[in-house]
Amino acid sequence: MPKARLLSGIQPTGGLHVGNYLGAIQNWVRLQDEYECLYSVVDLHAMTIPYEPGEMPARVFEAAAMLLASGIDPARATVFVQSDVPEHSELAWILSCVTPLGELERLTQFKEKSEEHKKSVNLGLLSYPVLQAADILLYKAEVVPVGEDQVQHLEISREIARRFNARFGPVFPEPRALLTRTPRVMGVDGQAKMSKSKGNGIMLRDEPAKVRALLKTAATDPARVRRQDPGNPDVCNVYTMHKGLSTEATLARVDRECRTAAIGCIECKTLLADAMVPVLDAIRTKADGYDREPARLREVLSRGAAHCREIAGRTMDEVRRATGLRRS
Ligand code: ATP
Ligand code: MG
Repeated sequence: MPKARLLSGIQPTGGLHVGNYLGAIQNWVRLQDEYECLYSVVDLHAMTIPYEPGEMPARVFEAAAMLLASGIDPARATVFVQSDVPEHSELAWILSCVTPLGELERLTQFKEKSEEHKKSVNLGLLSYPVLQAADILLYKAEVVPVGEDQVQHLEISREIARRFNARFGPVFPEPRALLTRTPRVMGVDGQAKMSKSKGNGIMLRDEPAKVRALLKTAATDPARVRRQDPGNPDVCNVYTMHKGLSTEATLARVDRECRTAAIGCIECKTLLADAMVPVLDAIRTKADGYDREPARLREVLSRGAAHCREIAGRTMDEVRRATGLRRS
């Protein structure tokens, strides 16, 4: 039996953070053997918010290096840069012609990002989910691992596939979302989801002292005001991070002792820092290796691009035939 194909992506919009690691990358690493995995650095998506063109190549390199440093294995998964495969943009246009406009305007990410970047609310920000649908459907991916923030977008991808198939014939499978074990890590201040663009994260590049300092300030169960108050790990962002990083024994202890107030938030955060620091150290060391030998990473990305272009070309042949476009 061939493995089902899976696709997911990460934007090169800034340094990667612990939310990206726990919500996306850690899960991607786990799925490498079960599915035929395609992981993309989605630079076309990153163009929807203001950016400095001169910085983009380094950001793309950094995001790709972080994926490999975090355990994505190019021998088992394909890693590629979205703009290396021009068919993403081509298919996005075609799909935009079967996308209901009203649904795009209702999406949370569009509302949040247009609020954040009031001076540059561009069409790309609105049609972001159409490009995302193209990313997935171009490879006929059946499975898309996502965090909570991407569930709405996946629904739109499914609807776009359905509408395309109804209008032009059955070309695309309907992709299904695979919600990650850690669907939402909140920012350090607990106010919003941890985000590259919000600057509220613990970055995978942060040094141990910075990680420990940030964790000391991290928001916990808001109902736990005094040291002797019992806490509720289910609503605590520090516990969410523990779940992705700590051993079963530490987890069980923190869960039990938080509820009885046997452990305070400060001690709980120290335990989390002890688990997080070595993980980030290992990622940083491996990523530094790619900085020293960039050719190793470039080679992975060009192999990835070649593989993806081949699949994309085949899908576009089918799409052109189905939609009545000329084939060159
Ligand atoms: P930006 O702020 O530029 O949108 P981001 O931090 O939201 O960046 P994305 O590149 O948009 O990161 O998302 C990459 C992946 O990381 C997606 O699968 C998304 O679901 C996941 N992800 C992002 N933030 C979190 C978070 N706080 N908790 C869990 N998963 C997250
Ligand atoms: Mg995002």
